[in-house]
Amino acid sequence: MSQPWQPTACILCECNCGIEVQLDGRRFARIRGDKAHPASQGYTCNKALRLDHYQNGRDRLTSPIRRRADGSFEKIGWDVAIAEIATRFSQIDGERILYYGGGGQGNHLGGAYSGAFLRALGAHYRSSALAQEKMGEFYVDAHL
Ligand code: SF4
Repeated sequence: MSQPWQPTACILCECNCGIEVQLDGRRFARIRGDKAHPASQGYTCNKALRLDHYQNGRDRLTSPIRRRADGSFEKIGWDVAIAEIATRFSQIDGERILYYGGGGQGNHLGGAYSGAFLRALGAHYRSSALAQEKMGEFYVDAHL
């Protein structure tokens, strides 16, 4: 017997579209837009419909990994990963960096912290995936 639909919200960007989910243990068995949600009115972009893939995907990383010289990968700890990434970033001219993030890539934290991060690197160039989601919002608003 299928599980009941439960109302919740997608947290993959700041739109927080209303969704309904049917759970199967830790898995999302089914996901759909919540037509009763006052803002999104049943709309979701494709990311919300793939939440099960993001959470339970076979290839999901569960720790940082580092590429070895032969092209294979090894698991490393977070402290090591953060220290090595910080060292490498400090060696790059900020003019050569394009930051892609700050909205729509998985949560809101990139938007909250990217400004200070980019200033520390002397980087000015940025882009994000927000156009995809904002276009969907426009479709909903255009029908109000
Ligand atoms: S626009 Fe897409 S990613 Fe953003 S909250 Fe809605 S369904 Fe989720």
